[in-house]
Amino acid sequence: MNASDPRQPLASTAPSRTEQLFPTLTTAQVARIAGRGRRRAMARDEVLVDVGDSDVPFFVVVSGEIQALRPTGATELLIVAHGPGQFSGEANMITGRRAMGRLRASEPGEAIELEREQLLALIQTDAELSEILMRAFMLRRFELIAHEFGDVVVLGSTHCAGTLRVKEFLTRNGHPFHYIDLDRDAEAQALLDQFHVSAADVPVLFCGVDSVLRNPSNTQIADCLGFNELIDQTRVSDLVIVGAGPAGLAAAVYGASEGLDVLVLESNSPGGQAGSSSRIENYLGFPTGISGVDLTARAYAQAQKFGAQIMIAKGAAQLACGRQPYEVQMAGGSSIRARAVIIATGAEYRRPALANLSRFEGAGVYYTAMPMEAQLCVGEDVIVVGGGNSAGQAAVFLAQTAKRVHMLVRGNGLAETMSRYLIRRIEDNPAIVLRTRTQIVALEGNGHLERVQWRDDRAGDVEANDIRHVFMMTGAVPNTGWLDRCVVLDDKGFIKTGPELSHDDLTAAGWPLPRPPFLLETSRPGVFAVGDVRGGNIKRVASAVGEGSIAVAFVHQILQQ
Ligand SMILES: Cc1cc2nc3c(=O)[nH]c(=O)nc-3n(C[C@H](O)[C@H](O)[C@H](O)COP(=O)(O)OP(=O)(O)OC[C@H]3O[C@@H](n4cnc5c(N)ncnc54)[C@H](O)[C@@H]3O)c2cc1C
Repeated sequence: MNASDPRQPLASTAPSRTEQLFPTLTTAQVARIAGRGRRRAMARDEVLVDVGDSDVPFFVVVSGEIQALRPTGATELLIVAHGPGQFSGEANMITGRRAMGRLRASEPGEAIELEREQLLALIQTDAELSEILMRAFMLRRFELIAHEFGDVVVLGSTHCAGTLRVKEFLTRNGHPFHYIDLDRDAEAQALLDQFHVSAADVPVLFCGVDSVLRNPSNTQIADCLGFNELIDQTRVSDLVIVGAGPAGLAAAVYGASEGLDVLVLESNSPGGQAGSSSRIENYLGFPTGISGVDLTARAYAQAQKFGAQIMIAKGAAQLACGRQPYEVQMAGGSSIRARAVIIATGAEYRRPALANLSRFEGAGVYYTAMPMEAQLCVGEDVIVVGGGNSAGQAAVFLAQTAKRVHMLVRGNGLAETMSRYLIRRIEDNPAIVLRTRTQIVALEGNGHLERVQWRDDRAGDVEANDIRHVFMMTGAVPNTGWLDRCVVLDDKGFIKTGPELSHDDLTAAGWPLPRPPFLLETSRPGVFAVGDVRGGNIKRVASAVGEGSIAVAFVHQILQQ
């Protein structure tokens, strides 16, 4: 920018997106990396990394060239070529997941090679390189997702509930995939024939080099893609965090960055409820708002950058709280041990008591309103049920693409349950129709939802409408069933902590210490509860994040005792 000449246009000195994606490091930066790894020669055509390799090393080119390639049958598609001073890798350098492409030296040369552990140590200690590398890795992953460059193909149908689940699981785990729709894409039949699968098997997931999964569970997908394969389950961790929503991820970031050995268990995908928010506008530091997926993807990468290990699609099934160290048993039988536990399992929407509800879940009934669901109802009428902030956000978001949004609430209005800024947007939006004291009484359809009956509770009239999409966003039920009364719960099933625990609660639970429980500590010493699963929680991303970080401060005290 030429500050002395006011006629000159303002010009940015910030690096362009391409420069951020593929930066060229300075000689001094390369020398710092060289100090952490080893120099090695590369022969022409040498394959340095192949599709499916785990524990992928990181390379900085000193001389010659490394090409990132996507093998397709007998040919290879060039994604990018790295020259001297440039480096390989994308987000899997941080997550430790398998390689989705091939790295080949296209000419003889020399490179600096770092193992993943050496790279993580570099990123944790060198702030300048951390910024350059982390930004490049994240941006490269976004590009792979946008261009559907990856090792997964999903063959599905919008009429089948499993398809949305599989697509959402991959999306929320930041895993690129190519989607083929059975009802629309010409290539679908050829794939069915080639792999001997039938339309009844959808969704079908073609995973890695040669695996074909028919209507796989999230755990099967995670296993096929090796999401958890580098995690050592035999050691006793300082801290196990159950749940990777905002509260659990915050605890993981603070715990791991302060030197604790942290393992996180997540039954589904990182991000929790916040990950299903189309736009969070009240979280500090994001004046223009941020989508829940973006916010939680950053937190997920941040936790892993500091060394936290995160197990995906591995839920806690039981807490063996009668012994020390504590043992968390997982669905599927295996277990892990820890000196301290933070429970951050949050809450989920209540499923209303409607006949046929489960038949239409994912095929017309949804519990999140993200771009994937919005795409399904472009130009159509939709219903949003609920009067809280999440329902308000969903209505405003869906109104951008739907023909009309019917907001159904049981009460007389929104004032008591929703933030003022959202109420104003709803009132100002002609595409949103608020129907107070109204509730759904029946869902109908053949395969996919086709018709909804709602009742106006004032007059008692029942009206049938040809509406194919309903977003249920009512009430919160805590995810505490797995705890099997190991810690004291309140009358709604939320976990009691700190001063909420009465003398009688503690006596009944056999509290063994002379001191009272710390803030956020449950009726078991060293077991904490944070975020939406805790009795008296505030139902905000900021409070969940705050509680996650506060609990870690007390974990340090527990571990020192
Ligand atoms: C659509 C929507 C929009 C929202 N918008 C906003 C907003 O704009 N601003 C705001 O401040 N708040 C918003 N909220 C509220 C906010 O998202 C929550 O308060 C916050 O996510 C709570 O975080 P948490 O980590 O405590 O729980 P959750 O986000 O519920 O996360 C809990 C995690 O634990 C996992 N889990 C559950 N059981 C187990 C188990 N047995 N083992 C392992 N893992 C388990 C779940 O899969 C989940 O990932 C919104 C919520 C929704 C649903």
